[in-house]
Amino acid sequence: MESLRYTAIKNVSKNAIVLESKPSEKITSIFNENVFTLKKARHYLSEDAYKSLMASTRGGKKIDRTMGGNIANGLKAWAEEKGVTHFTHWFQPLTGLSAEKHDSFFTLKGDGTPIQEFDGAALIQQEPDASSFPSGGLRATFEARGYTAWDPSSPAFIMETGQGKTLCIPTIFVSYTGESLDTKTPLLKAIVALDKAAVDVCQYFDKNISKVNATLGWEQEYFVIDAGLATARPDLVLTGRTVFGHAPAKGQQLEDHYFGAIPERVYAFMKDFEKESYKLGIPLRTRHNEVAPAQFECAPIYEEINLAVDHNTLLMDIMTRVAKRHNLIVLLHEKPFAGINGSGKHNNWSMATDTGVNLLAPGKTPKTNLMFLAFFVNTIKAVHDYSELIRASIASASNDHRLGANEAPPAIISIFIGKYLTDVLNQIEKRVGSKFDETDEAMLKLDIHKSIPELMLDNTDRNRTSPFAFTGNKFEFRAVGSSANCAGPMTVLNTVMAETLKHFKTEVDTLIDKGEKKEVAIMQIIQKYIVESKKVLFEGDGYSEEWEKEAEKRGLPNIKTTPVSLDAYSAQKAKKLFEDHNIYNHLELEARHEIMLEEYIKKVQIEARVMGDLASTSIIPSALKYQNSLIENIRGIKEVGLAASAYESQKVILEKICEHINAISQNVTSMIDARKKANEIKDTRDRAIAYCDEVKEKHFDVIRYHADKLELIVDDSLWPLPKYRELLFLR
Ligand code: ADP
Ligand code: MG
Repeated sequence: MESLRYTAIKNVSKNAIVLESKPSEKITSIFNENVFTLKKARHYLSEDAYKSLMASTRGGKKIDRTMGGNIANGLKAWAEEKGVTHFTHWFQPLTGLSAEKHDSFFTLKGDGTPIQEFDGAALIQQEPDASSFPSGGLRATFEARGYTAWDPSSPAFIMETGQGKTLCIPTIFVSYTGESLDTKTPLLKAIVALDKAAVDVCQYFDKNISKVNATLGWEQEYFVIDAGLATARPDLVLTGRTVFGHAPAKGQQLEDHYFGAIPERVYAFMKDFEKESYKLGIPLRTRHNEVAPAQFECAPIYEEINLAVDHNTLLMDIMTRVAKRHNLIVLLHEKPFAGINGSGKHNNWSMATDTGVNLLAPGKTPKTNLMFLAFFVNTIKAVHDYSELIRASIASASNDHRLGANEAPPAIISIFIGKYLTDVLNQIEKRVGSKFDETDEAMLKLDIHKSIPELMLDNTDRNRTSPFAFTGNKFEFRAVGSSANCAGPMTVLNTVMAETLKHFKTEVDTLIDKGEKKEVAIMQIIQKYIVESKKVLFEGDGYSEEWEKEAEKRGLPNIKTTPVSLDAYSAQKAKKLFEDHNIYNHLELEARHEIMLEEYIKKVQIEARVMGDLASTSIIPSALKYQNSLIENIRGIKEVGLAASAYESQKVILEKICEHINAISQNVTSMIDARKKANEIKDTRDRAIAYCDEVKEKHFDVIRYHADKLELIVDDSLWPLPKYRELLFLR
């Protein structure tokens, strides 16, 4: 029987028939087509309902329940005109993915008459049977109730799946007792905390500022693989990454893929998922090839964080679905292929005022420069003071494979700010001891804008090795993994920023109360923060070994694995921080810590099983087959009476195969033992560490090493798994 691998290879060209793409519509004519924007609301709602919706959407006001019915009716009218039959509360439970439970508008009246209905109560709150979502013990199984509640700051939209159309209401997801069970609730709270702290600081500079919105522009990296080939790889199907596979003769060394011409089949796929995205209001702007073969990236225009996060979650879902139509598979995993670049999701982050100012854009006057400097230095201080928490916010089993893997930032959190701003900070720092006073005109008039050449805003002055880089008018948090839900890292970043700004204000106010002039007080605290946090600044090569040593000298944490890095979530410091800002109470925080550890364990457990299964039932058997044919061959040579030298090489190959097979089976057995032992450990953290150290670290690489060696020896026609050269280059 022909192997799955060969069938898949043969089918690539059949699968690869580029789906006929209709001529592109103008983006502006389809953008937001399936979104209930305020403009549409104006048309479908009464004046009062519209005003109420607008106050909730823009002003963050709680939704007025008496308006619920009117808004629901308007939404239904709009949706029905577009052929929608069902609605769902759309939420993001702690699986990191999105969840839906569809209900029909259809219902029966008391006398049995069928009607279509969507009432205010159904819009505002639902009670999905949510007992199977992770809750970290927050919801005992007997109390399985969880509530979803409408988040009016993210607009309702219509999801098209095949012929079906569903009205989706973005919601938060909380337990019966009010604890958050999702990623959106804490994010919304962190956005509020940052808004308040940032507005307070903005008041020093501009009394007209009454709202600060954190902004996010994510860059999504991903791989695209022929679906037939991918399905012949059980590891890709079950874990999203290849646990075996020797590097191909040609990898990314020619650097011929980066920004190269997009292959036609992938291009058709991109156009297709972009169209779906535009209809849902996702403002995609950029698409290009990435460094590795079969790797690509897309990025939108930045948006307010809550919406940006929803859009990224939606996009990952859309991409996965649309890929199937093209007989393709999208891999969002951080490291699908060993030895080939991994995928990240750079989170470009800044803050914007309601007066239209980007707080991380250097100003044009001394006064606005000081405001920029305050926010810039506060960000550095926040990342410095809470670097362990920042590290924990990007921790996952899959991102562990990428961080520090020579093409991604290391697990050390540092900040790159570029030469010009380094100079500026140095100048300020040099004045330690000599107090700023009003005669320090020069200092206050630092013309930062002029000293940052346009270059900085361009692509060139970039340090791609930094996990957290200033890129002219925003910070780019580059260590976030490609499969992550951005809400996690963004919740942490906004919270630590809120905390730092709050302290900043207290310290500045104290100096002002002592009679210091406002600008002088601000400058002094900025200087203090530079001194206190400068060790987190690093301009060099983050991939280098010297940096690891240097970072250690500086006392910067370098936490390489997920289970240990997650400790930051259970530290007293984190509990206090999150409670002070009303983001998580300690129960919620403990629950999350528990869920993240559990998720880690499950991921490693699945990988270990897949590895064991594939090694025992695919790789070893094909090696044995080849071994038998060698034995047959040697026997034949002997039979015809040739000297031993005639089968010398066959014997050498045979011995090598024996050696690899033995090593694989011994290690698989020992890995299974380690797993059994780990499973008996009661404490979740200890169990996660056992999975990391005993199951993964001790076994994965060695099993893979021997399996990959066999791939180089065994007759190609017997090898069961599509090889890297096929996965990465056939399309
Ligand atoms: P790159 O060279 O890294 O691709 P771009 O300038 O294209 O940089 O921006 C990458 C992302 O950063 C885009 O999504 C863009 O919208 C976003 N971005 C730009 N300005 C801001 C900002 N002020 N806040 C948040 N994101 C921003
Ligand atoms: Mg970027």
